[in-house]
Amino acid sequence: MIPIAKPQIGKEEINAVVKVLESGMLTQGRVTSEFEERFASFCQSKHAIMTSSGTTALHTCLNSMGINKGDEVITSAFTFVAGASTILMQGAAPVFADIRPDTFNIDPVSVEKAVTDKTRAIVPVDLYGQIYDYRQIKKLAQENNLKIVEDACQSVGAESDGKKAGTFGNVSAFSLYATKNLVSGEGGMITTDDDDAADKARRFINHGQAGRYDYVDLGYNYRATDIQAAIGLVQLKKIDMLNSRRIENAKLLSEGLDEIKGIIVPHVRRGNRHVFHQYTIKVDGYKLSRDQLLERLRDNGIGANIYYPQPLHLAHFYRRFGYKKGDFPVAEEMSKKVLSIPVHPGVDRPSIEKIIGIIKKC
Ligand SMILES: *Cc1c(COP(=O)(O)O)cnc(C)c1O
Repeated sequence: MIPIAKPQIGKEEINAVVKVLESGMLTQGRVTSEFEERFASFCQSKHAIMTSSGTTALHTCLNSMGINKGDEVITSAFTFVAGASTILMQGAAPVFADIRPDTFNIDPVSVEKAVTDKTRAIVPVDLYGQIYDYRQIKKLAQENNLKIVEDACQSVGAESDGKKAGTFGNVSAFSLYATKNLVSGEGGMITTDDDDAADKARRFINHGQAGRYDYVDLGYNYRATDIQAAIGLVQLKKIDMLNSRRIENAKLLSEGLDEIKGIIVPHVRRGNRHVFHQYTIKVDGYKLSRDQLLERLRDNGIGANIYYPQPLHLAHFYRRFGYKKGDFPVAEEMSKKVLSIPVHPGVDRPSIEKIIGIIKKC
């Protein structure tokens, strides 16, 4: 079986974890600080703050931007649920916008339509590892006095016009979950240039403490540990190599699949470095239906998957906010056409040829 994701863990990661365990310091400490410093310098961002997950990073980002009860926050209808659920955790209302059919990222035209006098922020997502249309979103944010919280959970190392993911909003959230491009098991990272937001984030993840037992805000325990940071620190040294392998695999896949009728390969916007957290094709007018092709790949040992089979506004829990079928036609259409196939650094050339062969033959 060629799995859809496979963490690239080597001797170095294992040794780094053993070192932390032997040190007896199992919580947040020196290793986390070093990881944060190196992550900030990798992204060219002033601050980096490690958290326990991408979800807690997103929640912390929203809190740092002062998002609160009565506020509306606009986010993509076509993504993982954490963007919307963390808005609700702050007592604010998630307001969905549609996506663009070429990049699957939030559509600025749809965002503009969703702005009301209650809108306080936008949460654009770098879906599948490609940065959103930051120019248009930034323009809208400036015109309407909105904050931008970049959901960079899938895009560590991605670039747009030479700048790294995690630097296109007021604050950004990364996930270091085991399937992501850079892993720490569970884990998250916040990047920002905003000193106040960084201070607020550090308090929020640590019980609202400004100093020991000095509780100045509401806070949570969203800390990560040095065990996780030790893995992340080693992974950070390899991330350029790991991402390059994803990009190379994506190139080979696209060369092989581009000519096949009914298969639309990923579109990389000009100026973007797409880091292919997922390699996602559209199946449209192919000999088999999307679901039949998925099954065929799986029968042949290829761990293909669908991200995401349902847009958020049609999910059971989110329908209660008044959404219905037809509200975001592009997100709805994409959820029926997308198919992600293995692209991670562990996928070798014979596997790529096998994948292409199966899709060609069907
Ligand atoms: C993975 C992911 C998250 C959540 O990250 P966790 O570390 O699993 O909490 C949020 N948003 C997107 C787009 C993701 O891919």
